[in-house]
Amino acid sequence: MTATLADQLSYARDMQAMTSDDKTDVLVVEDDPDIGRQVAEGLRAAGYLTRWCRTGAGALEEARLSAPRVALLDLGLPDIDGVDVARRLRAEHPALLIVVLTARSDDMDVVIGLDAGADDYLTKPFSMTVLLARLRAHLRSRPVVTAAAVMELGALRVDATARRCTMEGAEVDLRPKELDLLVALAARAGEAVTREDLMAEVWDENWFGSTKTLDVTMAALRQRLAAAASRSGTDSPTITTLRGHGYRLEIPGFAGTEADSPSGGPRRWTP
Ligand code: CA
Repeated sequence: MTATLADQLSYARDMQAMTSDDKTDVLVVEDDPDIGRQVAEGLRAAGYLTRWCRTGAGALEEARLSAPRVALLDLGLPDIDGVDVARRLRAEHPALLIVVLTARSDDMDVVIGLDAGADDYLTKPFSMTVLLARLRAHLRSRPVVTAAAVMELGALRVDATARRCTMEGAEVDLRPKELDLLVALAARAGEAVTREDLMAEVWDENWFGSTKTLDVTMAALRQRLAAAASRSGTDSPTITTLRGHGYRLEIPGFAGTEADSPSGGPRRWTP
């Protein structure tokens, strides 16, 4: 894995794209010392903040501690099977980009890895150029989650990391996309959020299909929030449709109402 001119140009682009405080954090999980070192060094040279773990248990622990944006995961680990590690990482870190590094070229293993929650895979041996190009492509199409992990809006509590939503402490059962949508709206409670932004954040930046899926998911989310509010005897948060623009999440007597907001404006959270 020697640095070619193409590598160096990609490194330069990566370096340019990042300021020191917005470096992408990559967790490399690889027990092979040579591959691990080469990948970690290549990523660092490309401007990524890089951590390297040699075991599955170490990776799960490190991911909990440092909440990386990307995990490069070898499937053949000494302690836990990489597929199980992928499954657990996916369950604990929904927004994590997981790229599986596998010596197993067998199609079935790749399918199992992707089913376990991996976003992509690379078969060994791979070049640093290809790895960096894949990362750039994935990171472009996946905006950084800017929502705080836990958002409390009156009786409504949204935990983006644990992927839970409660109303007055009672669990609100939401489907994955409904929760994603609520997280996106709650992160900007009291503010207008455009349909385009929601489509990009909740579905895919490169979504060219019908936005009917947004309407359907929005209707279901409204219904579930209203049902939960009525069960807990609280006022329901409302999602107001702003015609030709988007939506705004309003919490009764809370977000966007200056008198009730401690900061004197729409409530905000620090990530
Ligand atoms: Ca290995």
